[in-house]
Amino acid sequence: MFDYIIVGAGLAGSVLAERITNILGKKVLILEKRNHIGGNCYDYIDKNGIQVHKYGPHIFRTDLKHIYDYLSQFTDWNLYQHEVLGLIDGKKVPIPFNLNTLHELLPENLVEQLEKQLIEHFGFDVKVPILELKKTQDKDLKFLADFIYQKVFLNYTMKQWGFKPEDLDPSVTGRVPVYISKDNRYFQDKYQGIPKEGYTKLFEKMLDSPNIKIMLNTDYNEIMEINPCEISLFDKKYDGKIIFTGEIDEFFKYKYGKLPYRSLSFKFETIKKEYFQEVATVNYPNNNDFTRITEFKHFKPIKTNKTSIAKEYSHEYDKNVKGDIPYYPIPRDKNSEIYEKYKNEAQTVENVIFIGRLAEYRYYSMDNVIESALKVFKEKIINE
Ligand SMILES: Cc1cc2nc3c(=O)[nH]c(=O)nc-3n(C[C@H](O)[C@H](O)[C@H](O)COP(=O)(O)OP(=O)(O)OC[C@H]3O[C@@H](n4cnc5c(N)ncnc54)[C@H](O)[C@@H]3O)c2cc1C
Repeated sequence: MFDYIIVGAGLAGSVLAERITNILGKKVLILEKRNHIGGNCYDYIDKNGIQVHKYGPHIFRTDLKHIYDYLSQFTDWNLYQHEVLGLIDGKKVPIPFNLNTLHELLPENLVEQLEKQLIEHFGFDVKVPILELKKTQDKDLKFLADFIYQKVFLNYTMKQWGFKPEDLDPSVTGRVPVYISKDNRYFQDKYQGIPKEGYTKLFEKMLDSPNIKIMLNTDYNEIMEINPCEISLFDKKYDGKIIFTGEIDEFFKYKYGKLPYRSLSFKFETIKKEYFQEVATVNYPNNNDFTRITEFKHFKPIKTNKTSIAKEYSHEYDKNVKGDIPYYPIPRDKNSEIYEKYKNEAQTVENVIFIGRLAEYRYYSMDNVIESALKVFKEKIINE
């Protein structure tokens, strides 16, 4: 019998499986409903020989040395620094909006004064969420805030989330702040990169243990009966522990209602050119139905006369549509209230640990979810 059953082979589930087997020598069964490991980080080599990220571009970055060291046990790195451009007023300009973007979009006679005022007001090398910038009383800065809001945030947020920036938790637009700097990099974290042989290989190494059994194409509902105090696996009573990284509302059979998500679809295309665009990701805030185009060759350059791109479309998640995937929890007060009910109930269920973006209904970057899994291992598992 297994000491732990882990639902989900994404980062949260895989880090815990690795720790439980390698540090504690216990036995783990992973149930994964997709046909591969790696969750949303999954990548593969496509027909053009290019490594593509099936569920959208994933760039690893962190300021936490212990997280970088932990992952580096399973991979070497391509030291890649992400840059994003946005098509605004017919020009491709740096995103997040920074002082270089300002110079490209506004007339020179205005820019000098605005730049000076921005630095005087907020300081240099400072990140300011757009909703904060919009609160300034200064007439010129208010003009600038409205300009950035209209050109960069409003339509992109509507396309991506179906809501205006102010109708979402401020953390959403805060993730891409206005950056008072001339640094065009998307992230400023100390450690940044793409796993040299890809994320999937990293997961394979992480899960390479005789004590880990993985069942792919297996929804836990098909082989487990959970009624939270009594759990059975293949109709036999199961007395071990469960680590659950799936949707928390599904676990509790939606008793407090469904938690809404945004979903994505990707249209992959082959372009007969060495490169399609200047950088890995170009955002389209105001044009087209898609939100952005990613060209994967920039992550891991190879010499070919073809290139692979993905156009990304955002839409509401519908659980009843086969293959639809819940990508982003929608941080709004109403949804937090529903989640809190599930969270409170989860605290009363012994033997089940809820962790990860679906089970905690929150956005996690990769480093944060690894950090959270390592913390859970230390605080809840190691001394059991
Ligand atoms: C488009 C996009 C881009 C991103 N880019 C970045 C980035 O550049 N940098 C960064 O740091 N982070 C990025 N992230 C965040 C990153 O994907 C997450 O941090 C990470 O995937 C979270 O891991 P997880 O284990 O919580 O969830 P997941 O990876 O989703 O794993 C959960 C797993 O559980 C499985 N599961 C669910 N229900 C069941 C069930 N009923 N039975 C069996 N299995 C089930 C799912 O199939 C899935 O494989 C991005 C996310 C998205 C959506």
